[in-house]
Amino acid sequence: MSQPVYHRVVVKISGEYLAGDQSFGIHQPTIDRVASDLIEAQHRGVEVAVVVGGGNIFRGVEVSSRGVSRPTGDTMGMLATVMNCLALEAAIERRGVSARTLSSMVMPQVCELFTRATAHRYLSERRIVLLAGGTGNPYFTTDTTAVLRAAEIGAQAVLKATNVDGVYSADPKKDPTARRFDRLTHSQALEGGYKVMDATAFALARDTSLPIIVFSIAEPGSVGAILSGGGRGTIVAG
Ligand code: UDP
Repeated sequence: MSQPVYHRVVVKISGEYLAGDQSFGIHQPTIDRVASDLIEAQHRGVEVAVVVGGGNIFRGVEVSSRGVSRPTGDTMGMLATVMNCLALEAAIERRGVSARTLSSMVMPQVCELFTRATAHRYLSERRIVLLAGGTGNPYFTTDTTAVLRAAEIGAQAVLKATNVDGVYSADPKKDPTARRFDRLTHSQALEGGYKVMDATAFALARDTSLPIIVFSIAEPGSVGAILSGGGRGTIVAG
């Protein structure tokens, strides 16, 4: 097993990915596989924090057209991320590895509140830390949360797990002429308007000089491969 090139990372898993081939909810075999991948990454000696999305359960923007205000819808979306984190926490712990969910919103009966100090402590105790509740604010995404938390906790990179093996000039599932990039600067990613991450996330990563690696988590072991400086993905940096 080759040496990891990072000491601490934030992995971003979209809620949609956790639905597997279902259109809604949590697909248990998928979440079990993701748990195994994260554990394998941690066994390489890397401190692993994970931001989980909520799109498999709820997205605020979808209800704003149905008479629910956007901030309320977004709060529902943030709560969906908490459910996903609890499911992932359970899947990790079932495999004998300690995990802790830290939320941006106060919910003492459910999990602890995110603070930098708590995240640092759990990561240095070799626990996988699951970051729930997005930023705690409406109008943001969990991609932006991943970059924000990575900057706050001193992670060296954000690993953005998707269904495709990098950033493409167009959707490769719809456009056969779509070109894949090995490397992009943050400014190129912003100017290109690539759908893989929102502009706020790219802009914050640029301002905090944080590399983002976009890769496909569909291949088992892909997180570990990226951590060793291999694997296939697009590096957005510089
Ligand atoms: N959300 C929010 N603020 C945040 C993060 C998330 O309001 O800081 C809400 C928003 O409604 C979003 C939903 O939570 O649509 C789920 O997050 P996201 O869409 O990023 O999940 P993913 O696409 O990764 O599944």
